[in-house]
Amino acid sequence: MSNERVRRLAILTSGGDAPGMNAVVRAAVRTALERGAEIFAVAEGFQGLVDGGDRIRKMSWNSVGGILQKGGTSIGTARCQAFRTREGRLVAAKNLIAERIDGLIVVGGDGSLTGADTFRREWTGLVAELTAQGAVPADTAQRYPRLSIVGLVGSIDNDFAGTDMTIGTDTALHRITEAIDALASTAASHQRCFVVEVMGRDCGYLALMSGLATGAGWVLIPEAPPDVPDWEERMCEVIREGHKAGRRHSTVIVAEGARDRDGKPIEAEYVRKTLQEKLSLEVRTTVLGHVQRGGAPSAFDRIMGTLLGFAAVEELLDADPDSPPCVLGIHENRVHRTPLMECVEKTRSVGLAIREHDYERAMDIRGQSFRSAFRIHKTLVRALPHTPQAGQRRFKLAVIHAGAPAPGMNTAVRAAVRLGIDQGHSIFGIRNGFEGFVEGEVTPLDWMSVHGFVSAGGAELGTSRLVPSASQVDELAKVIEKNDIQGLLIIGGWAGYEAAYRMLQARPRLAALKLPIVCFPAAIDNNLPGTEYSIGADTALNSIVEAVDKIKQSAVAWRRCVVVEVMGRHCGYLAALSALASGAERVYTHEEGITMAKLEEDLRHLVAGFSEGKRLGLMIRNENANPVFTTSVLRSLFEEEGKGLFDAREAILGHLQQGGNPTPFDRIQATRMAARAIEYLVEEQAKEKPAASYIGHRGGRLQFFPLEKFPEEVDLEHRRPKSQWWLSVLPVLRILAQPGPTRQVPPGE
Ligand code: ADP
Repeated sequence: MSNERVRRLAILTSGGDAPGMNAVVRAAVRTALERGAEIFAVAEGFQGLVDGGDRIRKMSWNSVGGILQKGGTSIGTARCQAFRTREGRLVAAKNLIAERIDGLIVVGGDGSLTGADTFRREWTGLVAELTAQGAVPADTAQRYPRLSIVGLVGSIDNDFAGTDMTIGTDTALHRITEAIDALASTAASHQRCFVVEVMGRDCGYLALMSGLATGAGWVLIPEAPPDVPDWEERMCEVIREGHKAGRRHSTVIVAEGARDRDGKPIEAEYVRKTLQEKLSLEVRTTVLGHVQRGGAPSAFDRIMGTLLGFAAVEELLDADPDSPPCVLGIHENRVHRTPLMECVEKTRSVGLAIREHDYERAMDIRGQSFRSAFRIHKTLVRALPHTPQAGQRRFKLAVIHAGAPAPGMNTAVRAAVRLGIDQGHSIFGIRNGFEGFVEGEVTPLDWMSVHGFVSAGGAELGTSRLVPSASQVDELAKVIEKNDIQGLLIIGGWAGYEAAYRMLQARPRLAALKLPIVCFPAAIDNNLPGTEYSIGADTALNSIVEAVDKIKQSAVAWRRCVVVEVMGRHCGYLAALSALASGAERVYTHEEGITMAKLEEDLRHLVAGFSEGKRLGLMIRNENANPVFTTSVLRSLFEEEGKGLFDAREAILGHLQQGGNPTPFDRIQATRMAARAIEYLVEEQAKEKPAASYIGHRGGRLQFFPLEKFPEEVDLEHRRPKSQWWLSVLPVLRILAQPGPTRQVPPGE
């Protein structure tokens, strides 16, 4: 291969830093090297491009080691005035050509991506000018007819069109919910009200979603100012009623850019004063500020950053160089490509709509799920349900858990109970899963009985793994008949789906079972059909990643290989995704299997890595990956073969993976799914033959699948869906985790 053909790429992070940027840099650098390209990191964003020299650093495989779990951006970011000018960009072009770079990955917000687009459009002119000045020889200039650009959105605000989530948003939501949960306990002790200001100038995403995730009493966002002139009075009334109904604390969340209908900013201090004056409560303000940007990235941001960094390099190396620059984002769990300027324009149009006071348009651009989240939030925080209207159909619906506890189960129950009651229905809770159901443990749930459920881990209603036998199904029918239950929501895992399927099969002989049934996926294993994720899996993933971070820290003092065993039964989701998020060398799943040949190869990699100075080897093994090659067998094998070079340890994470308070993602999705499930039960009630279904998030939306399909869609023996989307991330994991590129880059000119 001639040197001319080795592509030279660069990556920079610009604008506000966002957790997850390091994952992008790590993935981009390693992917480029693996593909035989060279890659440079530009320090301090566009400023580094303008400064040139040692600000444009050639990266090696190991130069991005140990950064995945770090917040911020290890290559630095800055705001650069010079790059806003043509002269600045001219120097930047000269510096890139000097390093023979013709492909650039820009990670930043809409400002940075606009700057990148301008730079690309001007490129030909800039190169011509440099040639005319004699700064770049004509024959060199000829080799750089264009600059290819890929944009990735790093922004904690989730304020960008073209991606479901921007890099950093999930982590920011973690920081906000942790802070509000912490405030809640002190506020409850003193019966206080807290006003919390969160980031978001033109985008209320963080405020709205953290409100949904913490059960905040009132949320003020830029896109939807309060729709009544005396909103202050309404807000106080809601908080007052809440306290009368038994709440000991309340939170009002104010987005930085919140305003009233006339566009007048609503500041946190104004909200505090108003509440203080109108309520006989102590009200305090907390401005979260930069805390929201900081800290270790969440599992999601590490995974998304990694997949996007990988895809950005593939795009630069494989896409038609003349195609317009694109932004890579995530849509439906897959990398999604959108023309860059289309995204920037759509993003800016929200700000414009807000400034023109056209709030309907602002909400429209944000999309349907944003609007419905706002509506759900407004209902959930009411102190009391709406008064039922005359003639409204009112049903008796029951909620039950099944299978192991999963974080987010309580959140789902809260949403189901409140949204159900608000529409005039009666909601019953069945205690202790199907064991309790058979025994007739059915109790009515009222509005305040689910108070505090939004953030609590575990399963307050109780759960069990029982799948009812034929005679127990007969008992269930009696309990349903006796309590006149007209719809059933089963929030749980595999046991719940099996139980529901047995009830479905018994319908011909038991008329009482012809009620609408919805199975709701709540299981940390993420092994349920019809959905890309089940509630609880994100929390478990974060618990694993936090534990592995600690293990990594403890092990670096010594050359050590650690085999970490994670849950999942026969489903490798937790193992694969935690491996991707923690930078593990190897993942062992049941889906891929373990063979002696593979282990020998892994050992060779380990020995090679440790011989070259590596200090830590991290392997993640699913608990049922293989019955012979158990975690301790792997550990012994590595220990034996690594003698003198490294030692080996095992860490079985166990039940910590099922515990903990749900992450914001699990809370938000649990709430949305429960809202849709209740609507569905009511819709089906009206039908002659009500359906039994499972709900899931697939293809970017909530869908229902007939329970009749359950056996077809799953591998019954191994209790997992036949098709699993996440298997597609395994090749990325394999590339990034190896000790170095498998292809050598020829030395430069
Ligand atoms: P963000 O990328 O987070 O939106 P900024 O708007 O501050 O942050 O932009 C970051 C940097 O991107 C700026 O300091 C500047 O160097 C560059 N930039 C922003 N807008 C433009 C533009 N219109 N033209 C050229 N460069 C720009």
